[in-house]
Amino acid sequence: MFDTLIIGGGASGMSCALIIGSALNKPFAEGKKVGLIVHQKTSHLQNALFNNVLGLTPGTLGEDILKIGKNQLTDLYPELTQIKNEKVCEVKNYKSYFEVVTNKKNYTAKTIVIATGYTSPFTIKGLEDYIIPHQMTKPEKDRVQLKNSLHLVKPNLYVAGSLAGWRSQFSIACGSGAQVGTDILTLWNNGEHTKVHDKRTNHI
Ligand SMILES: Cc1cc2nc3c(=O)[nH]c(=O)nc-3n(C[C@H](O)[C@H](O)[C@H](O)COP(=O)(O)OP(=O)(O)OC[C@H]3O[C@@H](n4cnc5c(N)ncnc54)[C@H](O)[C@@H]3O)c2cc1C
Repeated sequence: MFDTLIIGGGASGMSCALIIGSALNKPFAEGKKVGLIVHQKTSHLQNALFNNVLGLTPGTLGEDILKIGKNQLTDLYPELTQIKNEKVCEVKNYKSYFEVVTNKKNYTAKTIVIATGYTSPFTIKGLEDYIIPHQMTKPEKDRVQLKNSLHLVKPNLYVAGSLAGWRSQFSIACGSGAQVGTDILTLWNNGEHTKVHDKRTNHI
C-alpha cells in the first residue's frame, strides 16, 4: 500500500514527486511509501523548447527535462519508487483507499495525485464524474480538466498541472505539482503548514 501514488511523469507529476521526496527524511514522513508512475510518452514536454522559464537556459529542450527529472529523482530520493513503462487504465475508489490499475499491474494507495495533462479524451476509467471542459483554454482546443477545489477533487484524490485547470505553461504546471506536494506533506504533518527549504550552510 502506497501512502501516496503520483500518476504522470511530466512537469507537474515530477515536481510533486521532488517536493515529497525531499521530505522523506523528516520525522513526520517516517515510514511513508511514495510512488510515481513515471509514464512520459505523451508529455507535452516531449516537443517543447523553452526560452521563457526563469532559471532554465534559453533553448532548453523539454525532452531533456524529462530525462533530467527522472535522474534527479533517482539520485536524490531513491526511496521514492519510480514505476516505469506502465500506463494507468483505471482508478477504483474503495472506502479508505484507491486501487490504481495499469496495463501491467494493480497498486493500492491511500492518497493519489493525477497529473496526466489536459489532453482529450481523458482515458483513465473511474474518474468520469469529475471531467469537465478546461476552464482556461479556448473551447475549440477541446482540453479537459478535473473538477477540483485548490487541487482537491475529493478527499485523498488530488489533481495537478494542466489537468487541474491551469493554463499550460511549464512553470505553472511545476508550481501546481509542488503545491500538491506541500499539501500532502501538510496532511502528513497533522495539518501544520509544511514546506521544505534546503539552505546553503557556508555563505558569508
Ligand atoms: C510544443 C510545445 C511547446 C511548449 N512550449 C512552452 C514554452 O515555451 N513555455 C512554457 O512555459 N510552456 C510550454 N509548453 C507547455 C508545457 O510543456 C506544459 O505546460 C507542461 O508540460 C504541462 O505539464 P503537465 O504536468 O500538466 O502535463 P505533461 O507535462 O503533459 O505531463 C503529463 C504526463 O502524464 C503522462 N500520462 C498521460 N496519460 C497517462 C496515463 N494514463 N497513465 C500514466 N501517465 C500518463 C504523460 O506521459 C505525461 O508524462 C509547451 C508545450 C508544447 C506541447
